[in-house]
Amino acid sequence: MPDDNSHTSSRRQILTGVAAAGLVTAAGASRSRAAEMAAPTPALVDPENAYPRPPFPQQSQPWPGLAGKMTPRPDHGETSYRGSGRLAGRKALITGGDSGIGRAAAIAYAREGADVAIAYLPAEEPDAREVIALIRAAGRKAVALPGDLRNRKYCDTLVQRAHRELGGLDILVSNAGRQRHQDSILDISDEQFDETFRTNIYALFYLSKAAIPLMPRGGAIIATASVNAFSPSEILLDYSATKGAIVAFVKSLAKQMVHRGIRVNAVAPGPFWTALQVSGGQTEENIHNFGAETPMGRAGQPVELAPVYVLLAASEASYITGQVYGAAGGTGVG
Ligand code: NAD
Ligand code: MG
Repeated sequence: MPDDNSHTSSRRQILTGVAAAGLVTAAGASRSRAAEMAAPTPALVDPENAYPRPPFPQQSQPWPGLAGKMTPRPDHGETSYRGSGRLAGRKALITGGDSGIGRAAAIAYAREGADVAIAYLPAEEPDAREVIALIRAAGRKAVALPGDLRNRKYCDTLVQRAHRELGGLDILVSNAGRQRHQDSILDISDEQFDETFRTNIYALFYLSKAAIPLMPRGGAIIATASVNAFSPSEILLDYSATKGAIVAFVKSLAKQMVHRGIRVNAVAPGPFWTALQVSGGQTEENIHNFGAETPMGRAGQPVELAPVYVLLAASEASYITGQVYGAAGGTGVG
């Protein structure tokens, strides 16, 4: 593979050599500094073959599942995500920040310079500890706030504690979700229906209500919807209904929030390799072939969504509100 850095590095060597000889001009010195500050050219990635393809090994875990027990382990950007100060000084709360898509957002936000609070279920402490360590390794403040989002009181105290312990709240990522497959509406218990709505849509309502009065102009709310909002799976009836509700909620709230200076957007992922899928979210057969139905023929890895969550939180996205961003391996849905 050709060395894409060859031009930059040879130029840097030349400039350094000139400086060492004491022959450098003021203009030359500033060019030298610019060359040294330039980031290395990122390698080109072949999207079709960048990550594991199905078949995946058969596996299932009791809900809510742990990313640390999945085979292969999902890639949340632990070793690959590079920040560039796009969220420097921001304070972010991410629900479901222990694993999957929320973990990828947490790692990216910290490496972009944000302090991050993560919310998760107490049973997910092993995953959460890894994320807390990664946020701290990025030199940022990390706050762990376990609890159950089906409980309205927890939603309120979660936002208040994040605000207090981070010293502000600029970004709310309402990402936690519940997904249980059932072949028929006749198999969906009233309890399941209620829990799916509580986790996926009621919590978004409660968290937004608690956070908005605390958020400054320039703040951002980001919800995680799904391709199921637009092309609902027949085995995910209750889940798909909540995801459709999230899309409508975000589009309406975005209009309301324009004059408060808060942007509101959603992300609509296709099939991503996460604990939600292997802990009752999909049939075992669907896990085995997970992502095969997409034109790319593979599942997404959580790290592949990190740039979308960063963009929607960053100030450069000042004209982006009320939008739904898809990432679905070529299906074009979302
Ligand atoms: P995940 O299991 O890694 O994350 C979901 C998180 O939700 C859990 O880690 C848990 O902390 C949290 N959660 C669930 N119920 C909760 C409760 N009652 N109280 C507190 N927290 C609770 O899986 P993921 O796929 O990263 O899910 C993140 C979001 O992405 C969800 O909203 C999901 O619907 C959405 N999504 C996922 C996919 C996919 O293919 N993985 C596709 C589209 C949308
Ligand atoms: Mg989890």
